[in-house]
Amino acid sequence: MHYHYFTLEQRASLEREMRSSLMDPELGPALERLHSADYGVCEACGADIAFRRLQTDPLARRCPNCS
Ligand SMILES: [Zn+2]
Repeated sequence: MHYHYFTLEQRASLEREMRSSLMDPELGPALERLHSADYGVCEACGADIAFRRLQTDPLARRCPNCS
């Protein structure tokens, strides 16, 4: 299994971002993804998605090359 490189602090920061920007129906699944092993990994090529990109779009599923 591929575990991601984010620190706990970074995950906490992304969680705060999600809680402040998402509505209830989206928030549940988004938080589940955040704490799954493949969060922050591009679903197309498997590359890590930059933390800064996720800060502005915590739901991003693809890296800039694939989106
Ligand atoms: Zn990609």
